[in-house]
Amino acid sequence: MAEIILWNSIAKRRRSISDTFYDNGLGTLKGYLEDKGHNVEVIDWARGDFFQSLSPLGLARGIRNIYTALGSIKNKAIKKFLAFAYLNMQETLSAIQRKRLRRKIKKLAYELKKKKAHIVGIKIWYGDAFKNAKYLIKVLKKIAPETCLIAGGYHLTLYEERIFENSEFDLGVVCEAEYALEKILNIADNYAGAWDKNKFLNDVTISAKEGKIENLIYRKDNRVYKTPRRQPSVHSSKSIPKYVINDNKVSVHVMVESLGCDWGKCHFCVHSQFYPHYSLRDPEEITREIEEMLKIGIGVFRFAGSDTPPSFGARIGQRIKEKNLRIIFGMGSRPIRNARQQYEHLVNAYTCLIESGLRAVFMGGESGNDFINQEVMNKGVTFEDIVWTIKAFKEAQNKTGEKAFLSLALIYPAPLLGKVTLEKVKEDNMRLLKEALPDSVMITPPGPFLHTRWYEQREKFGFKVEDEIIRLAMEYEYVLYKPPKLWPELGISLEGRPFKKLLEECNEFRRQVENELDIPTDISDEHFLMFYAAGIKEKEEILKVKKETMLDIISCDYTLTREIEKRLNLFSKKIAYSD
Ligand code: SF4
Repeated sequence: MAEIILWNSIAKRRRSISDTFYDNGLGTLKGYLEDKGHNVEVIDWARGDFFQSLSPLGLARGIRNIYTALGSIKNKAIKKFLAFAYLNMQETLSAIQRKRLRRKIKKLAYELKKKKAHIVGIKIWYGDAFKNAKYLIKVLKKIAPETCLIAGGYHLTLYEERIFENSEFDLGVVCEAEYALEKILNIADNYAGAWDKNKFLNDVTISAKEGKIENLIYRKDNRVYKTPRRQPSVHSSKSIPKYVINDNKVSVHVMVESLGCDWGKCHFCVHSQFYPHYSLRDPEEITREIEEMLKIGIGVFRFAGSDTPPSFGARIGQRIKEKNLRIIFGMGSRPIRNARQQYEHLVNAYTCLIESGLRAVFMGGESGNDFINQEVMNKGVTFEDIVWTIKAFKEAQNKTGEKAFLSLALIYPAPLLGKVTLEKVKEDNMRLLKEALPDSVMITPPGPFLHTRWYEQREKFGFKVEDEIIRLAMEYEYVLYKPPKLWPELGISLEGRPFKKLLEECNEFRRQVENELDIPTDISDEHFLMFYAAGIKEKEEILKVKKETMLDIISCDYTLTREIEKRLNLFSKKIAYSD
């Protein structure tokens, strides 16, 4: 049977401490395609050891020390000198990382050539990772032109044919890629003895035209075509992801418990581009997947759905308890409309979830201003709904005696439509946070992403977007080590303020939340889950570790992050094998 080699494209530096989780998308492809008899090899470099190998430790440590010193030095001249040294060292580090990564990519290309790999699938991501994917393709096209190159992943599903206009992929598979890949590999079976890429691609094109391959992007006569989307449904995903266990990956399984969103109407959200409908997976099937993961030593989970409504979550929790499975998990949970009226029900649902292992929740609140949430975000919930949902979550913690962390997300600044002032929005946000007291606030600036209402009606919402923005957005890399004013321009403005100004306003609001309310910012539910599993549960310790892991990301000296990963992996294994 045909073989496919899947490569997870990668940036030269880590972007988050959670980017070394097992990749459930690649795991699902492996599980599904191997169940169908094909051979799948996954090459996943998003590992702690790999990222560290790209950065000379001495240089990274030097950067870390200088950055730390910059925070405390008062003397202006010394500060200026250190800032200069810091930026130069960062540039040197970036150049080394780029060189090392490109060398490894080149080596990979030669290995693929040596193996005579006929089909290579590349999971693409935004920014630097996308550029690196393009580099691998460029080398392969040169040294192994007979290799068929297939793009996949979230980034492709979002940008579709635009990716093809900016790269040399032969084929692309969007959304749930396993079905299209299965058909492509079935066609490849016909060429097992004598591989002929052109004939193979021609056969794929004929099948696509005949409507036999959904979710496909292909080229023909210098044009790019898309086949219709297959209706995504959790009911059809029968294969359990297959992972190759590696101590340098983080033992967290991101598990599909639902697809889509039960609301699906927020004006800033791209979710409906991926999943136009909402479908729930049977809790029995979910717990079966949990049992399989426990067998391989994974006991920490993140539900993949953007929103797991507490009532549905409680059904999963109930089944976990009935089967006596010991796990911990995190999930997304939208505030509940009319939460006050269904308070008891909510408390009971969250109680069941916490009893079954829920330890971290991500909640999109977006704004404390009801006009903004209604007219600008179309969030479908009010200030009161957010507060009462969080109250219910906290009461459930009191009932169970277990701490579960809440990360509340806000978008700030927001489009104002000339109806409200930014000061008023900020004031309402502060009021919301004072009442709700989440464990962390994730504050992000607004972005009119492709396929969102904000993008489609950008003039109405006050956005100006340059023509080149789509291409720029695909490759835009947030340069976390630089202050925002040194970031490359992104051709977006909101109500006359350029993107960098929006970033400044966002940062200023973050500082205000931290200083006036003593609520930490930018600790996601994934961070809380990792910290919890690593035994870091008290606020002071969390704050310290958050600061240090942020320093890890900035300096590329990932020592503490890797220590946390190690502790998490031990915990994950321990609870997985506890019975
Ligand atoms: S932002 Fe969240 S709640 Fe709103 S549509 Fe997207 S996934 Fe659903």
